[in-house]
Amino acid sequence: MSEDLFLKIIDREIPADIVYETDTVLAFRDIAPQAPVHILIIPKIKIRTVNDVDAEHTELLGELILAAKRIAKAQGVADQGYRLVMNCNEAAGQTVWHIHLHLLGGRALQWPPG
Ligand code: AMP
Repeated sequence: MSEDLFLKIIDREIPADIVYETDTVLAFRDIAPQAPVHILIIPKIKIRTVNDVDAEHTELLGELILAAKRIAKAQGVADQGYRLVMNCNEAAGQTVWHIHLHLLGGRALQWPPG
């Protein structure tokens, strides 16, 4: 998968179903949804993996969670519940090298995940 896929979505070079945007954060529907609501929330700056997160990103990461809360409410899944997931590196299933928070909701989710 392209190293810059999500940067291309941020730059509107490839289309996405965008549901939320601020100066620092963008959120769009996952192209292969694993639940009725499956939205990816990303920072507009490139951070490859959670291993690359630094203290300077603390506020930005908080903005991802705040975005998730707002989106969950707007999508109607806040009260029933939803899951936030950030995969780090291959063993966890990361395939796009720009950190992204998965927001999954709209169905009962199993635990532990696979
Ligand atoms: P991960 O496996 O955690 O790296 O998640 C990457 C996610 O990006 C997967 O759920 C993909 O379905 C999703 N994805 C890949 N390409 C696109 C795209 N062009 N638009 C929206 N979602 C995408």
